[in-house]
Amino acid sequence: MNFISTRNASPVATLSQAIAAGLAPDGGLYVPEQLPAARELQPGANLAETAAALLQPFFAGDGLAQALPAICAEAFDSPAPLQALATANDHVLELFHGPTAAFKDFGARFLAASLSRVRAGQARPLTIVVATSGDTGAAVAAAFHNQPNLQVVVLYPDGRVSPRQAHQLGCLGGNIRALRVAGSFDDCQAMAKQALGDAELQAQVPLSSANSISLGRLLPQMSYYAHAALSHRAAHGGLLNFVIPTGNLGNAMAAIMARALGVPLGRIVLATNANRVLPDYFAGGPYQPKASVATLANAMDVGAPSNFERLRWLYAGDDAALRGAFQSFAVGDATIRDTIAARYSQFGEVFCPHTATAVHVLEQLRRSGEAAADEHWAVAATAHPAKFESVVEPLIGREVAVPPALAELLKRPAHAEPCATEYSALREKLL
Ligand SMILES: *Cc1c(COP(=O)(O)O)cnc(C)c1O
Repeated sequence: MNFISTRNASPVATLSQAIAAGLAPDGGLYVPEQLPAARELQPGANLAETAAALLQPFFAGDGLAQALPAICAEAFDSPAPLQALATANDHVLELFHGPTAAFKDFGARFLAASLSRVRAGQARPLTIVVATSGDTGAAVAAAFHNQPNLQVVVLYPDGRVSPRQAHQLGCLGGNIRALRVAGSFDDCQAMAKQALGDAELQAQVPLSSANSISLGRLLPQMSYYAHAALSHRAAHGGLLNFVIPTGNLGNAMAAIMARALGVPLGRIVLATNANRVLPDYFAGGPYQPKASVATLANAMDVGAPSNFERLRWLYAGDDAALRGAFQSFAVGDATIRDTIAARYSQFGEVFCPHTATAVHVLEQLRRSGEAAADEHWAVAATAHPAKFESVVEPLIGREVAVPPALAELLKRPAHAEPCATEYSALREKLL
């Protein structure tokens, strides 16, 4: 299969080329030339097998096709269990069992497994430039650590990520460099984009991205939705509906694409924090990117959701159709706090602040009857609550046990270099 840019002004690319490039040369995002129909997926298959079957048409004819099962086995070596919640017909899809305890581990590990094969035998290392509001950088750094021929430069907004997130970024060393930028996530993202569009720089230092715009992260994320939908259908019949905590729209876009391929998913609802560009758009307003505001769900502090361009492409630019297909709701910090505290005191359930936005939206849909009592819904649990202990622990009045993989990372010493918000500062560091 070939891939094209959402802006239609780039040559078609093979999968390997699209994965290695990150952003298309015209500044657009790579999308498949046409959507393949999902093949018959086996409900009894494990996550890695489901991923290999689902992704096979995207890899057809590419140099990576033979390696797809091995890539999936490396990327999907931690589980994504669908667990029942205390409230009837509500579930949670736990996506936080990987090395950095967030869903981004799956995409980052898939991208690293793919890129290490694409770049094998190349003379110069490829440098991955990644802007992060916390979790992306950690997942990418952990996935690329010690991968031959690959380096990572992570930019994060100084003081706007949790101490544990900052630690995860700075503790790897070796081929991983952490830059703490005196600005917001949007500043970091703008700097990374500028570097990726800087042809003169790239002639000296080959660069690529690993943000959620990267096709190598987007495609694999479809797999856990497919696996959950099939397991659920085998057990209960019917469609599984989802509420997905949303920032840059990478995770939700994967669910939307999986459904477009024919994976048996029901409704998909987007929960955001107080950054309400998407809720405003879906309520009928224009699409209007804004500066992001800092919230408790900091990995979703996004004012310009970059995958929106892919969503518009999927709906061929038809805003009316797109608005009709999805709902999106914003959840403020006070409600995030209340939700975390109430779910713990009522049911003993502990959620991270991101997951709590979706839990609240699901509660609202149930209360209003928009989600009928007999419908099955799942919340995507995007991070383990132990990553956000400074928010969660005071609300529930006890400590949250740290998962072992995360505890390993937190034991290492950490270091990050300061970096100014000007692009020239980043450029200098890359050269
Ligand atoms: C990145 C992240 C999100 C948002 O995902 P997007 O793909 O950017 O929409 C939500 N929750 C957590 C914990 C994250 O790390």
